[in-house]
Amino acid sequence: MPTDKRPLRFVIIGAGMAGMLAGIRLKERGDTDFTIYEKGDTVGGTWRENSYPGLACDTPAHSYTFSFATNPEWSAFYAPGPEIRAYFEDIADRYDLKSQISFNTEIASCRFVDGRWRIVTTDGRDDVADVVIAATGVLHHPAMPDIPGLASFAGPYFHSARWDHSVGFDGKRIGVIGNGSTGVQIVSALSKIAGTLVHFQRSPQWIMPCPDLKYSDADKQAFRDDPAKIEAVRNGPEASARRARFTAAIIDLDSPELAEIQEIVERNLQDSIRDPDLREKLRPDYRAACKRMVFSAHYYNAVQRPNVEVAVGTIERVEAAGIRMKDGSFHELDVIALATGFRVDQFVRPMIVEGVGGQSLDVLWAEHPRAYYAVAVPDFPNFFLLNGPTGPVGNFTLIDIAEAQWTYIDQLIDLLRAGTCDAVAPSRAALENYEERRTEAAKRTVFASGCRSWYLDKQGVPQVWPWSYAYFQHVMATPNLDDYDLIQRY
Ligand code: NAP
Repeated sequence: MPTDKRPLRFVIIGAGMAGMLAGIRLKERGDTDFTIYEKGDTVGGTWRENSYPGLACDTPAHSYTFSFATNPEWSAFYAPGPEIRAYFEDIADRYDLKSQISFNTEIASCRFVDGRWRIVTTDGRDDVADVVIAATGVLHHPAMPDIPGLASFAGPYFHSARWDHSVGFDGKRIGVIGNGSTGVQIVSALSKIAGTLVHFQRSPQWIMPCPDLKYSDADKQAFRDDPAKIEAVRNGPEASARRARFTAAIIDLDSPELAEIQEIVERNLQDSIRDPDLREKLRPDYRAACKRMVFSAHYYNAVQRPNVEVAVGTIERVEAAGIRMKDGSFHELDVIALATGFRVDQFVRPMIVEGVGGQSLDVLWAEHPRAYYAVAVPDFPNFFLLNGPTGPVGNFTLIDIAEAQWTYIDQLIDLLRAGTCDAVAPSRAALENYEERRTEAAKRTVFASGCRSWYLDKQGVPQVWPWSYAYFQHVMATPNLDDYDLIQRY
């Protein structure tokens, strides 16, 4: 442990899971001089912004929990969204974070001037910090589809992350566009109450079966009595095998693990869908795990309800009364839900971030967002990202990832705490070397095996961690300071 010498002021951007983690960890270290800026009116990030019917987390609940705040009370193996949101609210109270969160405050710019970060909010307030932690989330900016005629639709329509709770769905003719994890969850829920529901799919998805396991009072009591039972769900042999199988599969197209995943999803389709025509409609023409895996215990039942139809193909246009497909078919609708995903090329943007000499992050990220090992950027000293670009995403738990990244970032902050240097940033050469290796590896992953997905950048290269999860944990354990510039004075 270094000798703490220098008092540091921190600004954390975002009070979602990662920003809260940073706040908690700073407090543990005695770094109490920080403010978390949050543009929303409460904590929870994605779990605050998403409130669509059927919202859940398809990562096991006990794994999708802070390692230091496990929760024996989860109601199910896969927790519903509102319960996860309540968990984060409770964390904010338990760790007394809210007094240090500035809610309804959006950051307009962060500029590195004379060795410190000058922060300006959109309502004109300012702040100064030695260290900025950007915890602004990955799936944050809704992607509205550029479907002709959308604005001419006579009924309500909205993005899944901007759900309009004033709209009733009982007995209505509902259209859902998009069949990623979100669309699949919405269809599974709304199919039970819709008059009719049409699920519009530009490209079908492989569906990974999963248990619909609710925890009984006895289960919860067992978790309360014996934390080892929680640890077993988090990191026991089954969880470790699942992680290892998934990582082996994504980095090696010829691996038996990927073949096994392919076999499971094909069997799921074969065994679950009775009508051979519907089965073929739902069969993707790309490999399993190419897109982010969709887990569902309910979707194949939902699409076989008599009131549900699957429309696979290209939407020609939206008209006042409904949706016309390119094949000429027309679906009359009362309401349309757009489960069309997010603009993942944004990250901290549209916030203006300027580093040494006024260099703009927007310029550095013109092609695609880049960060050394997903956490730091050359020429942007003392600016760190949690769940930043090119980290592991998708079917891993982002909480584990953020915790590992914090372990790494905290060691860099130790250099500032100890007075070893005033500022720290990776060298340009280190970022270039990382990006070169990462890009080459990414091209060989299953994500690049021939499908469209949010993992891909403009050039079609996966913008994600292309190595094993074990390697990620290894790299995050200790920063390689040879790759960093330690700056004494500005
Ligand atoms: P997504 O996976 O990006 O899916 C977007 C869907 O919209 C795709 O089916 C896409 O079709 C379709 N689409 C986009 N533009 C369209 C257009 N112009 N016309 C027709 N279809 C269009 O988005 P998401 O489902 O919101 O999921 C995003 C990520 O959020 C997930 O991958 C996951 O990481 C996270 N998530 C997690 C959970 C969980 O349970 N843990 C739940 C929900 C979301 P194409 O496939 O043809 O592009």
